[in-house]
Amino acid sequence: MRVEVRTSRAEETRELGEAIAALLRPRDALILTGELGAGKTTFAQGVARGLGVEENISSPTFTLVKEYTGILDLAHVDVYRLDRMQDVVDLGLEELGHGDAVLLVEWGDTVEELLPEERLRVELTTDPGREDDARSIVVAAVGEGWAERFAELEAAVMPWVAPA
Ligand code: ADP
Ligand code: MG
Repeated sequence: MRVEVRTSRAEETRELGEAIAALLRPRDALILTGELGAGKTTFAQGVARGLGVEENISSPTFTLVKEYTGILDLAHVDVYRLDRMQDVVDLGLEELGHGDAVLLVEWGDTVEELLPEERLRVELTTDPGREDDARSIVVAAVGEGWAERFAELEAAVMPWVAPA
């Protein structure tokens, strides 16, 4: 189950995150992948906005995880360097996923085996040869947990589905 969308500026990526946030439930896990500058934190800002987090969210550069209070709580993890892998293990990312917060992990590739089995993968890529601000974003459901919500998800992201 996957859907591909496209955004043409940062605010649109936030709006996409906000639209997806409306479907989130406690303990959902979102894994954001993509190169530095792809827009993972920007997307996370939209999710936070959609969850009613009032605080401005930025990349947790000096702390591995930042927690925010909203309609649902949000745990934002940024595994920005591979050598932080051990920190992630120490942190017990799986434990975080067992709290009631929505777990949102940037650069999930490196930690994917530690994460809850049910998750939403959001892969952001810049578009070489196109405008700098365009992003291609694939949203994919991993595990059965999203199956019942996937139609809703597709409807929510419809405004950003690239015309064929
Ligand atoms: P990452 O967390 O993946 O390293 P950031 O979200 O911190 O990326 O940075 C993305 C940068 O790209 C921001 O400066 C943002 O304003 C800019 N940007 C431009 N267009 C887009 C877009 N369509 N979606 C997301 N970010 C965009
Ligand atoms: Mg980031």
